[in-house]
Amino acid sequence: MTAAPTDVVRTDVLVVGAGPGGSSAATHLARLGRDVLLADGAVFPRDKACGDGLTPRAVAELENLKLDHVLQGAPVNNGLRGHGFGRSLTLPWNGPHLPRHGSAIARTVLDNALRDAALDAGATGLDGHRAVDVELTGGRLTGVVLRGPDRTVTVQADHVVVADGGKSHLGRLLGRTWHQETVFGVASRAYATSPMADDPWITSHLELRDETGRMMGGYGWVFPLGNGMVNIGAGTLATKKRPASINLRKLTEEYARQRRDEWQLGELTGYGSAPLPMGGAVSGVAGRNWMLIGDAAACINPLNGEGIDYALETGRLAAEHVVSAGPAADYTASWPALLDAEYGEAFSIARRLGLLITHERLLALSGPIGMRSHAIMSVAFRVMGNLVTPEDTDVVARLWRTAGRASLRLDRRRPFH
Ligand SMILES: Cc1cc2nc3c(=O)[nH]c(=O)nc-3n(C[C@H](O)[C@H](O)[C@H](O)COP(=O)(O)OP(=O)(O)OC[C@H]3O[C@@H](n4cnc5c(N)ncnc54)[C@H](O)[C@@H]3O)c2cc1C
Repeated sequence: MTAAPTDVVRTDVLVVGAGPGGSSAATHLARLGRDVLLADGAVFPRDKACGDGLTPRAVAELENLKLDHVLQGAPVNNGLRGHGFGRSLTLPWNGPHLPRHGSAIARTVLDNALRDAALDAGATGLDGHRAVDVELTGGRLTGVVLRGPDRTVTVQADHVVVADGGKSHLGRLLGRTWHQETVFGVASRAYATSPMADDPWITSHLELRDETGRMMGGYGWVFPLGNGMVNIGAGTLATKKRPASINLRKLTEEYARQRRDEWQLGELTGYGSAPLPMGGAVSGVAGRNWMLIGDAAACINPLNGEGIDYALETGRLAAEHVVSAGPAADYTASWPALLDAEYGEAFSIARRLGLLITHERLLALSGPIGMRSHAIMSVAFRVMGNLVTPEDTDVVARLWRTAGRASLRLDRRRPFH
């Protein structure tokens, strides 16, 4: 990469956003010998509103990235303690081809470590620089304008990976549309001290009620961080037609009030919230020489709101796609097709089920039935926890894929289209 006095910078691949998605893409690309510039509007280490939970799928992807050291010293959790409708169930992580443990790491720590890994692999970091404008020539993205505190840099790259999160300002400049008639999430989290921060299970309450006692379609969580702190939060699902008319901060405070005695929680700190685009409910995820990954491409599971695993995975897939497509690449059709092949079935059925959850009456009827059966909830936990992989050939995995294919046929708008 060479910087000219005019602040025009040339690079092979520009990655915008150094969250899990961008740092994963940058690490893989740099290891594959590419000249990579990894830019972010924030200055690292930075926080990100998140439950901080790492599913076994995220753990597997970190191991795949050879970043096992990131997990060293981090808490290990064995699965979920689920509560609701008068019952409690303990459900171990149960993906046959995935690790049998998850973890939880505060994003200030995790994202900094992931970005460091990308820089160690040879990527050049440029933090404190926000993508604010684009230059397009004949359909190609020929410049991305990054504004920093003291200077503006125009980056000219052969390929651009857009990993700037759920709101994806850069994606919007490039024509990304978020379809909010499809289910999406809103979630908030806070931190609190707890003597139970070493609990080896994550906790979730599927019967989530606001301060008036009204049932919300979503769940509350307590994720032990192993350092004397827990991440506590709540999330709910909505659509344009059925908006979540709630005060998220109040919902989190109410959930924490309900859990306070049991967890001996200290005062809430670090409150943060964000909307979550889910289930590939965006179009315009690629153009001639750019592609969107992670939350920017709405790669969040509609059934649990988790997206770190998908961000890490789509970072890897994008890197492989850049390398295999070669210099004359055109990602306009190939990238959405690849995402669709990878996630389309699961996202289609998951967002259809997520839509049902937005109907409180249906939830009130089905919740107690589900919670009565360990077998049903075990299956639900597997699909909700992103634990079905392409290698799985068991009955549950086959049924899930069949339901996904049927759901795709009913979709008026396929994921990523
Ligand atoms: C309350 C809440 C709880 C959640 N809990 C979990 C959980 O427990 N487990 C889980 O797996 N997922 C969870 N998620 C989802 C998870 O946070 C995301 O899926 C994940 O962060 C996606 O990673 P990403 O790299 O795509 O985007 P991000 O992590 O959002 O990273 C995007 C990066 O882009 C940068 N950026 C943004 N705009 C620009 C710009 N214009 N120019 C330059 N840089 C820019 C940002 O500074 C940021 O660093 C939760 C989300 C919320 C809101």
